[in-house]
Amino acid sequence: MALLGTKTYKNFIAGEWVDASSGETFESTNPANGDTIGVFPKSSAADVDRAVEAAKTAYEEWRLVPAPKRGEILFRFAQLLQDQKSDLADLMSHEMGKVLAEAGGDVQEAIDMSFYMGGEGRRLFGQTTPSELRDKFNMSVRMPIGVVGVITPWNFPIAIPSWKITPALVAGNTIVFKPATDTPLLGERFVELLSEAGVPAGVVNVIHGGGGEVGDGIVRHPDVPVVTITGSRETGVAVLKAAADNLKHVHLELGGKNAVIVMDDADLDVAIDGILWSAFGTSGQRCTAASRVIVHRAVYDELQSRLVAQAEKMRLGPGWEEDTDVGPLINRRALDKVHSYTGIGRDEGARLLTGGEIASDNGLDDGNFYRPTIFADVEPGMRIAQEEIFGPTTALIPVDSIDQAIQVANGVRYGLSSSIFTQDVNRAFRAMRDLDTGITYINAGTIGAEVHLPFGGTKDTGNGHREAGQAALDVFTEWKSIYVDYSGKLQRAQIDTIEHPSP
Ligand code: NAD
Repeated sequence: MALLGTKTYKNFIAGEWVDASSGETFESTNPANGDTIGVFPKSSAADVDRAVEAAKTAYEEWRLVPAPKRGEILFRFAQLLQDQKSDLADLMSHEMGKVLAEAGGDVQEAIDMSFYMGGEGRRLFGQTTPSELRDKFNMSVRMPIGVVGVITPWNFPIAIPSWKITPALVAGNTIVFKPATDTPLLGERFVELLSEAGVPAGVVNVIHGGGGEVGDGIVRHPDVPVVTITGSRETGVAVLKAAADNLKHVHLELGGKNAVIVMDDADLDVAIDGILWSAFGTSGQRCTAASRVIVHRAVYDELQSRLVAQAEKMRLGPGWEEDTDVGPLINRRALDKVHSYTGIGRDEGARLLTGGEIASDNGLDDGNFYRPTIFADVEPGMRIAQEEIFGPTTALIPVDSIDQAIQVANGVRYGLSSSIFTQDVNRAFRAMRDLDTGITYINAGTIGAEVHLPFGGTKDTGNGHREAGQAALDVFTEWKSIYVDYSGKLQRAQIDTIEHPSP
């Protein structure tokens, strides 16, 4: 990686690269070794105002650009992402810590989403319906809303911005984007490529800085009617409250406490692969990570020993090294939080099977590495089975039946993803119907969503919206119903009823 170092980056407002008005900065660091990735502007309310003003001005022109033309820009953007995929993946492995294959997957999601939303430029379907009156035409159309505030986490630093920004853009909105402070360089690269693809000045603006001053500033700004944010439950609650006075549209994608169910008839080879991938992929830092494994007692002992043996073979290391299985956690705070849950699990009486420690051998102490951790004999009500840990820790919970498995799976406040391994079609359909989550996988882990289906969760995982697929457009558009009367006279709906001859 040639570009790492102490280069100072800027905000992007109205097509210009500008410093924060305060002149203050913060650093982005490599979670695997503490190296500085770059220095970024620490923005404040004045920068938020500037960016919103730029987006508001650009909206008046952008909303009138024909949607197929907006879509063509997204196609070019997708192509640029494709061209830059390996560089972006390499940068991601340095700035965020993901292993290269997963970093490439993150970029690929953005490519797929950009092509998908580019195609929406020629759809954005509304409805036409008959009218109850003669010589009258009815239709509904999607309208853009205005300036969209986009606030993203660090764990999918290219994919998540694409889930929010591409549907918002194709629908005709303009953007003020605040990337997470742990991944500002990836946020900046994302916007550079959008600009290179032909997004006009002011249509997408990026301002760096923390959730307090910049994030909250965007949420409260009176000229930002829509806010879309992915983050923790606590942040979601704060955002919803802050947006209430202005009755904003708020789209929340929040935490998860996802479960894999393994029934007694499961193919254990596949189930173990699925659990390892879902629990320890991205070092467990996925909203869809499997932090609970609900196991039928008939296969509980075998699953435990095989899972532990596999987990202990996983190699920890920097994401950019080809043979790394598990990269670092994002920062020291995250490492401390994950480790504290090991103490909580022990104190609650769960049995630690493997892991449970900060890894410090072979130079790993320069970074934030945590060993894949598996607890057994976990009770469904324990904190390690209820709270989002967001690290490579999973909890094995024994059960005796499909009914109990579903009850335990549903017994948490979150409702993002779920999975069941079974060969029995009846059990699979029960699970599809009764697992209270936005996403359910059959004979796969809890991760692996595709961009053309809705993504999001029930209960405390969100507030009823979805990203991806057609559903994403609902966040970024308002429906307008249009009635065209070509009778040449005033017809009054519900009053001027017309007698029609029977056929
Ligand atoms: P976070 O909530 O700490 O931060 C998310 C973003 O919100 C950051 O950009 C942050 O600066 C900003 N922010 C923080 N406080 C704010 C405030 N008061 N007002 C406005 N903005 C504010 O989350 P994180 O640590 O970056 O990400 C991890 C969390 O995200 C986990 O809970 C995870 O489950 C969740 N997540 C959910 C999904 C999903 O689709 N459901 C996907 C990925 C991550």
